[in-house]
Amino acid sequence: MDPEDIERIAVLGAGNMGHGIAEMAALAGYEVTMRDINEEFVQNGYEQIEWSLDKLAEKDQISRADAEGALDRVTPVVDLDAAVGDADVVIEAVPEKMDIKRQVYRDVIEHAPPEAIFATNTSSLSVTELSEVSDRPEQFCGMHFFNPPVRMQLVEVISGAHTAEATLETIEALAESMGKTPVRVRKDSPGFIVNRILVPLMNEAAWAVEADDATIEEVDSTTKYDLGLPMGSFELADQVGIDVGYHVLEYMYQELGDAYRPSPLLAENVEKEELGKKTGRGFYDYENGGVQIPTDAGREDLQERLLALMANEVAGLVAEDVADPEAIDEAVKLGAGFPDGPAKMADDYGLEALVERLDELHETTGEARYEVEDSLRELAESGAGFHGTGDDGSDATQHETLNVSVDGRVGHIEIARPHRMNTISEELLGELDTAIDELDDDDDVRSVLLTGEGDRAFSAGADVQSMAAGGGDPLHAVELSKMGQETFGKLESLDAPVVAAIDGYCLGGGMELATCADLRVASRRSELGQPEHNLGLLPGWGGTQRLRHIVGEGRAKEIIFTAERYDAEELAAYGFINEVTEDSELLDRGWELARDLAAGPPIAQRFTKRAMLAGRDDTDAGLEIESQAFGHLMNTEDLMTGVTAFMGDEEPEFEGK
Ligand code: NAD
Repeated sequence: MDPEDIERIAVLGAGNMGHGIAEMAALAGYEVTMRDINEEFVQNGYEQIEWSLDKLAEKDQISRADAEGALDRVTPVVDLDAAVGDADVVIEAVPEKMDIKRQVYRDVIEHAPPEAIFATNTSSLSVTELSEVSDRPEQFCGMHFFNPPVRMQLVEVISGAHTAEATLETIEALAESMGKTPVRVRKDSPGFIVNRILVPLMNEAAWAVEADDATIEEVDSTTKYDLGLPMGSFELADQVGIDVGYHVLEYMYQELGDAYRPSPLLAENVEKEELGKKTGRGFYDYENGGVQIPTDAGREDLQERLLALMANEVAGLVAEDVADPEAIDEAVKLGAGFPDGPAKMADDYGLEALVERLDELHETTGEARYEVEDSLRELAESGAGFHGTGDDGSDATQHETLNVSVDGRVGHIEIARPHRMNTISEELLGELDTAIDELDDDDDVRSVLLTGEGDRAFSAGADVQSMAAGGGDPLHAVELSKMGQETFGKLESLDAPVVAAIDGYCLGGGMELATCADLRVASRRSELGQPEHNLGLLPGWGGTQRLRHIVGEGRAKEIIFTAERYDAEELAAYGFINEVTEDSELLDRGWELARDLAAGPPIAQRFTKRAMLAGRDDTDAGLEIESQAFGHLMNTEDLMTGVTAFMGDEEPEFEGK
């Protein structure tokens, strides 16, 4: 079946995943039938779709008309023939039990048209085995959405042993038309890509605690604040459900061997039914304090050990031809919210050190999971990384956190961390600095357009987590503040005019960055603000100085002291936003403005910018005080209070200490 021929989609199961998948399919314009085993379940799923569409409309992410149209396209049914009788694609999201799924496919083949494609949302069962129960193994593949499907960008598209290439291409096109990013999983291997990285990481964390090599706090502090992952390993296990991770691990152990032997610590929790957040207790006690992870308990040796384990998994996936390092990195960034993919993290750390560490661990424990994959050893010995030496023969610098390109006379910098709301990390600051220099040196570039990838954020601010990872070191904070001030200042004083096109969140450091543009255009749904005072911080990347030049000191104080979020229209009234557009028109308008400016008189533009900058009062003195104060604040209890409240989505109670 060609992707253009898909009109009707049947979703089997109206549970957690099924209703979310049905919602995404309906929003993409397909006619959707959603089936469950009784009226109550299917109706419940339908009501959840209604609630979710309403929320999306409330937040202006879709229009009311789109929400109503999507709901109209969903038909909840119990009768199987009504569900799949004229479906082009059947997406199955029934419980993760082989016998239930097998029975479902035996029933479905009685009713579905012969050309319909079957896609299973299984997290861990064998796609090949399921395909063999159906009458069309070549028209059968995995389509693994992440939870919740409405928000998670990734879909792993998994080939079973019999799946035809055309089937995979159609399902990838379907995922794209639903606004998702498909990543191909070339072999039906346990855990596919994302769980193959996450689950062994959870297991290793548990083994480290089991062996008394580390405490839960040390492991989680290392994972969250040193590796910069969105959650600590134990925090994540509690969140997902220890039983869920444990069952995937058991399956890996059974299929892939001893390297995946589950830690007894996990088994104990499953036995005691202390499964995490959902039972009120797991590795953390949710009725008593919940997750408490110190920012400064991380350990270098643990970091190396966890990275080494992940590098070995990446090498295994590549050696088994499940996916290449680029696909692995993309999948893990989108599906697990890693700031960088595991292959890139391992490359950055150095494969040689990681291999050495695995060898040491293998020697002392004899455990199979530390046996170094041959390909990893070869890569380490050759000095190349998973991503090669990085030399692709072009002059342009490859950036990890930015997409930089030149289109005609417009240089385009796109902040490319959509999985982290385009937040600004130290690495991003460094890359931005280089990108600005490059565009400045390029005589063809006559204006610069600045945008954020995706439709959720221009930039939601500094990457708070990676900043807290500095362990509150004031000197480091002063440096970080200066680094941001200088890089943003470079953008502000760039000869070519700069347009910021803002869509979604533009907060904190993101707003300070936008402040350095010459013109700002924002979509109607955008939300802007300087929330630093909520964290017991101050805007440390020029915000105390530059904002007032645009909106006046009164408004600048209001924005910073209230720490409120403003919508685009309000900040247009304050003079911060030059123009507000409809959401869908933002990018076109940004490009149009940038092209108009690129057609302007470059010398006159350059000197106008210089004269206006030079005519300001003593900004440098202000910037010096700002960065010193930023460093001072790094050591206050108020900052800890603010960050903890922020992470827990609570109101901070500052004590001025
Ligand atoms: P769930 O228990 O919330 O929903 C499953 C639904 O299927 C239930 O409403 C159940 O009544 C229904 N069902 C049972 N038999 C059926 C049948 N014969 N026909 C139609 N519906 C039937 O489970 P879930 O979390 O939505 O998981 C569904 C699938 O998605 C599983 O394969 C799971 O591994 C996978 N998955 C889950 C997650 C997650 O985080 N929950 C993430 C990715 C994939």
